[in-house]
Amino acid sequence: MADIYVFLGPPGVGKGTLGDLFCAETGAIHVSTGQLLRDEMAKHSEIGIQVKDLIAKGELISDDVVAAMVTNRLGEKDIQSKGCLLDGFPRTTHQADMLDSILTETGNRLAAVLLIEADRDMLISRLTSRRVCSNQACGAIYNINSQRPAKEGICDRCGSKLVQRSDDSESTAIERLHVYDVQTAPLIAYYTASGQLVRTQSRDVDAKENYQALKTALA
Ligand SMILES: [Zn+2]
Repeated sequence: MADIYVFLGPPGVGKGTLGDLFCAETGAIHVSTGQLLRDEMAKHSEIGIQVKDLIAKGELISDDVVAAMVTNRLGEKDIQSKGCLLDGFPRTTHQADMLDSILTETGNRLAAVLLIEADRDMLISRLTSRRVCSNQACGAIYNINSQRPAKEGICDRCGSKLVQRSDDSESTAIERLHVYDVQTAPLIAYYTASGQLVRTQSRDVDAKENYQALKTALA
């Protein structure tokens, strides 16, 4: 019986980095439903063909298809011995119910659902910090928090003006955080009720420091 972990967290919280550190240290396998979908399509498996068809028609991939894929993956040997960090599933309480059955079926257990929380201003600052070179032939990318150009607003490489993409604007960031709140609130309630929710706070410090806090929360 292997331990399965689920991490929940808003965009900009550093979930990917923390997940990588967690897997590197514990040996847990990172299982992302997005990657599973791409793998199935590349293999031209029965599920892969179904998914391609749905995408071609512009239809949503049903919970049943995702659950079948997750069931297959969690039943594999490497997961049985190393456990995994499940990424992208569950997204809804219906999927959370499905996960329960999948774990029973594959002989695994949900060790914890980790909720990574952070100060809203920090998240907005991170989500809006990217700047790109306005010269499309150059395309250099900067970050005003972590990868500043030598001269503010000017590309180091070609001297063109740096601009903010609309994807990185404050209004987009606020909207993304709102969507996250609405989608995730039911899951938070679900796992709080089941006693499996663990909370950790991500601060504006080195990722390793946040990872230590995460480990303490899980311990
Ligand atoms: Zn440039």
